[in-house]
Amino acid sequence: MTDHHGACHCGRIRLVLSDTPSEATECNCSVCRRVAGLWHYPAPDAVTVIGAATAYRQGDGALDLWHCPICGCTTHWTPTDAAYPRMGVNLRMFDPGLWSELPRRPVNGAGF
Ligand SMILES: [Zn+2]
Repeated sequence: MTDHHGACHCGRIRLVLSDTPSEATECNCSVCRRVAGLWHYPAPDAVTVIGAATAYRQGDGALDLWHCPICGCTTHWTPTDAAYPRMGVNLRMFDPGLWSELPRRPVNGAGF
């Protein structure tokens, strides 16, 4: 298994992903459309986050959306329920070779 290494623009927050995405999710909800996240949903134990990111807990409080306090890049989200089996990593923090050719899966989080 090859680890994939991602980082925010300034490099303060780094992500190590130990699985390989097979699709990339684009969600149209009120926050995802603003941060332009392109999501992969690994098990939390497949991700190592290095560095002190800042959390934004929005809406129903089901997840924390994390960003770099210096450069502002949104790097990942984590569930506030520790039993939830998935988290989200923003694939745009990784080399485009990992994700640019993946099938895009739209999620209608906005409920239009
Ligand atoms: Zn940064």
